[in-house]
Amino acid sequence: MFELAVNRPTWAEIDLDHLASNFSEIQTFIGSEVEIMAVVKADAYGHGAVECARRLSAEGVGWFAVATLEEAVHLRQTGITGRILVFGSIFCGQEIEFLNFDITPQVIHIGHAEALNSEAAMHDKIAKVHIKLDTGMNRVGIRSENWEQTASRLGELGNIEVEGLMTHFAVAEKLSENQFTEHQIAEFGRAVDIFHRAGHRPKYLDMANSPGAVMHSLSRAKMVRIGGLLFGLAEDVIKESVERPAVRPVMSLHSRIALLKEVPKGESIGYGRTFKTQRDSLIATIPIGYNDGYRRGLSNKVHAIVNGCKAPVAGRISMDWTTIDVTDCGHVQTGDKVTLIGENGELMVTATDLAEACETISYEITCGIPARVPRIYSGKVV
Ligand SMILES: *Cc1c(COP(=O)(O)O)cnc(C)c1O
Repeated sequence: MFELAVNRPTWAEIDLDHLASNFSEIQTFIGSEVEIMAVVKADAYGHGAVECARRLSAEGVGWFAVATLEEAVHLRQTGITGRILVFGSIFCGQEIEFLNFDITPQVIHIGHAEALNSEAAMHDKIAKVHIKLDTGMNRVGIRSENWEQTASRLGELGNIEVEGLMTHFAVAEKLSENQFTEHQIAEFGRAVDIFHRAGHRPKYLDMANSPGAVMHSLSRAKMVRIGGLLFGLAEDVIKESVERPAVRPVMSLHSRIALLKEVPKGESIGYGRTFKTQRDSLIATIPIGYNDGYRRGLSNKVHAIVNGCKAPVAGRISMDWTTIDVTDCGHVQTGDKVTLIGENGELMVTATDLAEACETISYEITCGIPARVPRIYSGKVV
């Protein structure tokens, strides 16, 4: 796109120093002997995978995980030299790119390993793979009935090395479901034994996502796969009052007042006339809308912060504009900064606050802020 001298004043700030300190807080919490794989799928949950992975590489992270081969190749081409695991499996025909770009697949079906083995044999390479074992999530992964057979078949594939075994938790964040998580951990242990007996010696055994790593110390094994917690989305990931690493949000979202209007008592604002002024009001229009990830479901439910003062959303959020009530905010002017997620003065709005207002999780809020909203990086950018 053409680079303008001046952009629409709506941006997400990504504090890479917070990311780095979150990483070190998590490492301290889970213990230095456990390796952290940084999950940077979905453009690092909306935070910018390349910039986040670069900074995390500088902090010593050696493993990254993404969802798709496209995301993995993008990281390689922008200079990430660490190991990259693709959670999204290998789709037929992608085998050669996995080999060429030195990307490690998560294998969810023996047929995928067989296809990769043939391609690797043709190029005289050994492909390292991580096998996904289904221990109760019933989404991707190999079901327990097939573990023996899979382990023995993998042993016959001369150009495949089973470097890792992994599983994924369904409800690690809920204390009341601890029994289920403990069952998943035990099942994983059983799978590891089966693979050992079949002659595999996987270097990596990993189960835990953010809530698993924090709430189930037995699930830490040799490596944990951390996404949400790295980005400081902890209040959402871990709702229970348990001990946790002191992480801080990495993303904040801002805009500036484009227009101020005095709207007399008794008029309506915006589509659907869902907000009626109860008094003579000062309404600020800001250039951000649901096409910027400021979801329509937040209409009339949440507030932004202007000059350290609460400014409730007044009326429906439209595609590109939002109206907020700044009547109580003292002297405000066009161009004043509006914080939609983050700290401003003494106040703070978190991605979790927005998520709760529209019945989702903070991950979906930060992932849902599209590329139209530029990411501005602060802290040490590498
Ligand atoms: C997304 C994902 C994770 C990371 O989960 P968080 O809760 O963000 O830490 C770990 N493992 C797998 C397989 C995932 O898909």
